[in-house]
Amino acid sequence: MKEEFLELMKNLLGDNYNDFIKSYDNPPKRGVRSRINNNLKKEKLKFGINEYILLSDEKLGNSPIHHLGGIYLQEPSAMAPVNLVDINPSWNCLDMCASPGGKSGQVAERLIDGILVSNEIDKKRCQTLFQNMERMGYDNVIVTNNDPKDLTNNFKGFFDLIILDAPCSGEGMFRKDSEAISMWNLGNVDTCAKRDLDLLDYANIMLKTGGIIIYSTCTFNKYEDEFAITEFLKKHDYSVVKPNINVLKSGEKGLIDGAVRMYPHTSVGEGQFMCVIQKNEEIEATNKKGKFNKLESKELKLVNEFINENTTNLNLNLIKKNNQIYHLIKDINLDNLNVLSYGVRIGEIDKRFIPNHHLFKVFGNNFKLKLELKIDDPNVIKYLRGEQLDIELPKGYGVIMIDGLSLGGFKSSDGVLKNLYPKGLRNF
Ligand code: SAM
Repeated sequence: MKEEFLELMKNLLGDNYNDFIKSYDNPPKRGVRSRINNNLKKEKLKFGINEYILLSDEKLGNSPIHHLGGIYLQEPSAMAPVNLVDINPSWNCLDMCASPGGKSGQVAERLIDGILVSNEIDKKRCQTLFQNMERMGYDNVIVTNNDPKDLTNNFKGFFDLIILDAPCSGEGMFRKDSEAISMWNLGNVDTCAKRDLDLLDYANIMLKTGGIIIYSTCTFNKYEDEFAITEFLKKHDYSVVKPNINVLKSGEKGLIDGAVRMYPHTSVGEGQFMCVIQKNEEIEATNKKGKFNKLESKELKLVNEFINENTTNLNLNLIKKNNQIYHLIKDINLDNLNVLSYGVRIGEIDKRFIPNHHLFKVFGNNFKLKLELKIDDPNVIKYLRGEQLDIELPKGYGVIMIDGLSLGGFKSSDGVLKNLYPKGLRNF
């Protein structure tokens, strides 16, 4: 680790510096959000609803339960910020810097009729974000690929909650990512600290009066952490919100009132800074609706035929964009934005209607034809490899369901289930 970093940490930690340095001899802590019963060795964190520390070093990234969306691997301290506040299930939420989607998933799982706009500036990372949202089968997430500045044109005073998990110098990643150590330098800390102030300003434009920003980084540098908040509060009328006590107990008080810090030597995870601020100042909200292309009547007929034949109780709000048909989850203004998913990718028309994997993942429970399997059934691995299953079911489209979650779709005919798991995901 670079001398300048060590000097800064000495100044910050004083007597605790040696414990901090010694903690680098230990392996990094791993965490998991777990949505179905499983026998993973894990310990419940003090905060959260389904958040755990993983006690084994088992590789899980390509396991059936992971493909199913039954688990999401996330560093334990990175799960803390979303738990600082009680999220109202009806809120309009924005995750400004969202990929790979850990915090977006935590928010999506807490919403009922609320929505989440999950945004990522980097194109490739945004694809990963979308794949994670699809894998988890959320029905309430819109994925966008924009510079947060460009979002401000559409969402003035719109959101109840904004997650700003800022791109940072990554000091809290050092134990698990050696690249973060080599990338670190004081110039980058400075760049990040300046960018934080811009990002906070964009968040302010998009937040309702009374709305909340959860600000977090995975770095220890005070210029990217408390200083960013203090500078922002000099210009804006906001209050710092008291943190959830269970989160605070899992870390320690930060350098300003209300902030929480997590270090590898004292906390549940690798490193995180977090603080919640609430907007007092008035803002006039724009409530412009978006412009969306409706389906032509021929297209609508084909989609409706598929939906009526194969599903029940599915009311879709259909729109069309670049030949793809989506279920739009809420009529919000997405004009001129680069939208990866308006909610759920239903499919496309190529003479007939071709259903998309996203439809099977999100609306699995609505399909009439279901093959209920246990996670350790050999057919699960066969399916994930892209093989057809020799199982006799009535004709039609259906889904493989495991513990209430959908693994993906199939087409049943002549005693076999034709595999509709996307080729790009078959990496078993
Ligand atoms: N919130 C994510 C999660 O919990 O999974 C992690 C987000 S990561 C700390 C920060 C993200 O900010 C990265 O995905 C990065 O691509 C993005 N980013 C980088 N530069 C940015 C910028 N100038 N504006 C907005 N986001 C940026």
